Amino acid sequence: MYTLIQLPFAPDALEPVISANTLSFHHGKHLQAYVDNLNKLLPGSGLEALSLEEIVAKASGALFNNAGQVLNHNLYFTQFAPQPSSPVPGGKLAAQIEKQWGGVDAFKADFEGKGTGLFGSGWVWLQADADGALSIGQYANADNPAAHGLKPLLTFDVWEHAYYLDYQNRRAAHLNALWQIVDWKVIEGRYAL
Ligand code: MN
Repeated sequence: MYTLIQLPFAPDALEPVISANTLSFHHGKHLQAYVDNLNKLLPGSGLEALSLEEIVAKASGALFNNAGQVLNHNLYFTQFAPQPSSPVPGGKLAAQIEKQWGGVDAFKADFEGKGTGLFGSGWVWLQADADGALSIGQYANADNPAAHGLKPLLTFDVWEHAYYLDYQNRRAAHLNALWQIVDWKVIEGRYAL
């Protein structure tokens, strides 16, 4: 039985980057619906004993969509902080970004561009392979790196429900603002696992 994750910050703490109004719908309604659907679909699927990552790697159809969206949103909401403990990447992750992109600004521009350019609803992910090599993945709808054998590190949700109340059609402006609240300590921790 899955439950809705608690947000690690107050509902208005991410303003003005993400408003309390957007959070209340995004976390309280959209994510809650994915959790409820997952709990309805899981019994009898044969995948009940698996982790969310394992379910996503094996499931298809509605079960894949709802499990994928729970996994995506759990990682999305827990990567933010109103005053990030680490506002820039550090450690091994910073070194790998430097090696592959030449610097964090070039990485951010690439990531934002791929998020802005993703057609329709989906997610842009920073992901790692088993050797620690990084890449940026553009995924439609509920898809994610875990379904493709990659480690999910950082994600921006480009479904309109993530930004439309605050930014309307200005997806690029929303993605650019999100860097202010990314807690890179969390992303580094995922990379180190
Ligand atoms: Mn969403």
